[in-house]
Amino acid sequence: MNYYRLAVNTPFNNSLLSYCSEEEFEIGDIVKVPLGRRTELGLVIETLEKEDNIEYKSIIEKVPGSLKSEEYFIQLIKLIAQYYYYPMGRLYFESLPKLLKRPRGEFEPIIGQSQKKIEPNQLQTDIINSIQTEMLQNPTPQFLIHGVTGSGKTLIYTELMGNVLQTGKSVLFLLPEINLTPQFIDDLSQQISGKIITYNSSLNDSQKFHVWNKVHDLDEPMVIIGVRSSVFLPIKNLGLIIVDEEHDHSFKQEDRCPYHARDVAFFKAKLSKCPVVLGSATPSVESYYRFTTQLPHHYFRLDKRANLKPMPSILLVDKKIEGAETIVSTPSIKLLEKAHKDKRQSIIYINRLGYAQFLTCQKCGHRFDCPNCSMSLRVFKKKNILRCSCCNFEKRKPDQCPECQNLKLEPIGLGTERILETLNKSHPDLKVVRFDREELKSFEDIKATLKDFADSKIDVLVGTQMITKGHNFEKVDNVIILGIDNQLNFPDFRSGERVFQQVLQVAGRSGRFENEGFVVVETMNTENEIFDYIKNYKVDEFYKFEIDLRRATHFPPFYSLVMISLSAAKLDKVMQESHNVVRELQLYNKGVCEIYGPKPAIVEKRVNKFTWNIILRASDRNSLRIVLDNWYKNNKIQSGISLKIDVDPLSIN
Ligand SMILES: [Zn+2]
Ligand SMILES: [Zn+2]
Repeated sequence: MNYYRLAVNTPFNNSLLSYCSEEEFEIGDIVKVPLGRRTELGLVIETLEKEDNIEYKSIIEKVPGSLKSEEYFIQLIKLIAQYYYYPMGRLYFESLPKLLKRPRGEFEPIIGQSQKKIEPNQLQTDIINSIQTEMLQNPTPQFLIHGVTGSGKTLIYTELMGNVLQTGKSVLFLLPEINLTPQFIDDLSQQISGKIITYNSSLNDSQKFHVWNKVHDLDEPMVIIGVRSSVFLPIKNLGLIIVDEEHDHSFKQEDRCPYHARDVAFFKAKLSKCPVVLGSATPSVESYYRFTTQLPHHYFRLDKRANLKPMPSILLVDKKIEGAETIVSTPSIKLLEKAHKDKRQSIIYINRLGYAQFLTCQKCGHRFDCPNCSMSLRVFKKKNILRCSCCNFEKRKPDQCPECQNLKLEPIGLGTERILETLNKSHPDLKVVRFDREELKSFEDIKATLKDFADSKIDVLVGTQMITKGHNFEKVDNVIILGIDNQLNFPDFRSGERVFQQVLQVAGRSGRFENEGFVVVETMNTENEIFDYIKNYKVDEFYKFEIDLRRATHFPPFYSLVMISLSAAKLDKVMQESHNVVRELQLYNKGVCEIYGPKPAIVEKRVNKFTWNIILRASDRNSLRIVLDNWYKNNKIQSGISLKIDVDPLSIN
């Protein structure tokens, strides 16, 4: 008889269980096992000696034709599961593509053909050389390239990739989903000679299965370009990981295991003995602080655009003077008109979909809320509906207040649709088009709109975050930023950082090629110091200000945070259990951590489940982990309550 430790696909804290079998298995095999009354999948991670007082259940069978994992990959999953307090078995099976008996089709990589159109300039060459030299001396160095939009970070990446491919190793290039545009892949494939595989949410199960197998058994080096989840691809012979836009919040998974792909990349690189290069125009405060203070020789700056065009001028418009009800201010309108006259283009950015944030009765103040969530329903005028941005609940837009039968219902707040409508009314000669996921459903739609914009058939694009990434707009002179105050006033320790990042990211779209660019930020808070840093491109001053603030208020990178969330359908159950958790934590704590809460999440009810949060904070990460380890091993959360432990949360709401 043989005995094995398996990582079983279960939500229990301890997913590592022992089984036996007459048959012999190898580490990395996927098998079926009995678990309670069900059959579950398990991963063989260790062979064991028989112990007397254990009753072993038998492994049912090996899953035929399934994927096989190498030990280093199992090791990665184990480390990540430990770091994030997540069941290892569950994490492993979530990181796999769906196991298919008969995957359809094949998956062929794109063949990159280097045209060598662009040669790196002196600064880029210096950075490439520094990184290469360091890579020869140290197997796992980490670098941060902090360069403004258009400064040519991508060219540095492609040069590094080319060199790594030549040594016979592969490259993993991580970027936010939104950046993985067809244009980006086209551009990249003209800068690299070699095979390229892309991995994103548009792949079907068969394609994902093929990619997984392909990178596992690579017989020649490749570049794998992918979004967050591709950090779990078991790439053979990995020689470099690049994380572009490392500050981007889409690298953090919010549901299931709340991992950050950048941080997983560090673990992966250590195990694969390869370097990591981070890049961003607006690095996270944590990365900036870490590299400038601890790794200054691995921190590179590109403050100028590669084509030497000046950075756009950033102007603030005081909404207090313009009036809060003004949708687009007079100075912004003037810029739109001027651009139109000069046959140039403009972009309006607002990170809000639809027509308005909510609908309210003018007489009694009734608000239309989601029945499943503690959220107001957003107004979508063209579709004539109200919709919840949390659970997608929809209903027809009412004509009448259900409380007082008043017919005057007022939409409050802005969205792309409302800006479009306002401009269409005031400026019928301007061709204005929306650029958001409500209007553009597919890659094809996006391509078509971008083509119309490039062909000057559109004067103004009104878009959400989608508009900020991965596009080279040649004729855009102006970028107008609306609704940034929502972000600024959001009660979170990262609000300032997010405003700084959003404004500079969008601003980077203007004046890149010909005319001087202008960026208008409309705000009620012109006196906020953040805008002074932004407007004058005082980048280091901004980071210093933010770092001092974090130090003084006990936030990362000076303090570590963990957020424990409990959710269930019954509010009283959640409240009671949250209080229990705090009491249990205090038993282990002995004054090491600050423990806050329990308190309701900022959106307390989501899809009919209530969530309460508890925050742990400590200056010493290890002591915090000891408290949490002890609690985690012994916790007895009632069944029916789901537990989420968010290590290094991006937000504590
Ligand atoms: Zn009313
Ligand atoms: Zn809802």
